[in-house]
Amino acid sequence: MSVDMDTFRGFADQIAQLGRMAEPVDLPDDERVARVKAEFDAKLNQTRATYLESCVHCGVCAEACHFFLETGDAKYAPVRKMDLLQRHYRREHSPMRWLFRLWTQEITLDDLMEWQELVYDSCTECGRCMLVCPMGIDIADVVNVTRRAYARAELVPAELTAMEQEQSQSGNIFRTGPDDLRRIAAELEQEGIPIPIDKEKADYVLVTSAIEILLFKDALRAAARVMNHLGYDWTVQSCAFEGANFGMLSGYEDVQAKLTNRLMGAAVSVGAKTLIIPECGHAYPAARWYGANALGTPLPFEVLHLSEFLGREVRTGRLKLKPIDGKRTVTYHDPCKVGRIGGVFDEPRAVLQAMGMRHRELPDHGVMNFCCGGGAGNFLLNRAEPLRQKTFELKKRQTESVGAEALVTACSSCRMSFLGAADASGGWDRPIESLVELVGEHLGDGLGEQNGIERAVPDRSL
Ligand code: SF4
Ligand code: SF4
Repeated sequence: MSVDMDTFRGFADQIAQLGRMAEPVDLPDDERVARVKAEFDAKLNQTRATYLESCVHCGVCAEACHFFLETGDAKYAPVRKMDLLQRHYRREHSPMRWLFRLWTQEITLDDLMEWQELVYDSCTECGRCMLVCPMGIDIADVVNVTRRAYARAELVPAELTAMEQEQSQSGNIFRTGPDDLRRIAAELEQEGIPIPIDKEKADYVLVTSAIEILLFKDALRAAARVMNHLGYDWTVQSCAFEGANFGMLSGYEDVQAKLTNRLMGAAVSVGAKTLIIPECGHAYPAARWYGANALGTPLPFEVLHLSEFLGREVRTGRLKLKPIDGKRTVTYHDPCKVGRIGGVFDEPRAVLQAMGMRHRELPDHGVMNFCCGGGAGNFLLNRAEPLRQKTFELKKRQTESVGAEALVTACSSCRMSFLGAADASGGWDRPIESLVELVGEHLGDGLGEQNGIERAVPDRSL
């Protein structure tokens, strides 16, 4: 069930080469700066102006950010990541701009190059800092606006540029297309796990990703087994099977909308009642929160993350799971975009419970869970590897502190971040497991154990 590490390392080697595939876009320096400012102007609204006016520089947000906590470096304090937009706001839009201009420097290309690390490598837009800010400032939103400005100026890190350029052209990533989907479907058919591709009508559309086709094949296998086991009318659409959205991750808004529109359009065309997003963190908000805007109408179907779907099926009793052989103590890592941003907390825990897992909560879990360190596309950035390593150490400490034998999650990016960091640090004796893969191995006819959950009192000093 767990991924073969040689396959993982081969995949990681390919990722390490990504930056070379980006087609550079030449622009004069002053044009880049002008584009950033123009995008800031376009995105500044009352809400964001209030954020920028109300920061009291208390520094509380720093203690919420895994990058600051694990490095102790003041440059990674969340408030600093707002600096470019704040400077521009103060000089050009603040009621006190005539005064601010006396000491607030204009943004330069050097600033943009320096802040690139702060808004891509060291911010995963996880949203944890907003929850502790006494003023309720959504720093992740400000970072996201800054990323969009960087995209306008063609200053996105090369790895994300390469991914965005490929997906903008083909809709897919990692050179994986419909033929690869059909190939893996044929392989699974041989195992007795059919994947109905391109049905004209279906109640459920399952989305997958190149990462599942190339690396985490067991996750796709397990999802297909679940859908077949439940006997639902389902399909995967070869014209829109990719859930990842590198328009969203890089900051290219038009590409983001185009990709989301494609997914939504495919679900509409088959008359779907439910669109199921795979174990991918950002694919969930890309579809759930931006889907209707991209389509231009209210969605005629519901959007569920796979972990949400599994939990719902377990809770209604339609999906019956076998208890695992012998008690196993596990902990669950909430992917930020599914948990804190999406509100999906109880469903994956219900699934673990149904398999009779002994579940220990991390000291920080649920809405306050720490990010894997690789979200928002960070897991592809070569230069961010030391930062991911640091944040993995935090997760490792917390996992071991609760005596968990395995770390379970429902996001391929989180798994890749953890696996990469664990491998780089000489390995870890706790497997990093996928929720749906566990489910795929424990499909049963009888009701699962309902009393297996045991909660430890979290040690918040970690
Ligand atoms: S916690 Fe909020 S108010 Fe305090 S420094 Fe951070 S952003 Fe500013
Ligand atoms: S959104 Fe997350 S990663 Fe970004 S500054 Fe806030 S806590 Fe740090």
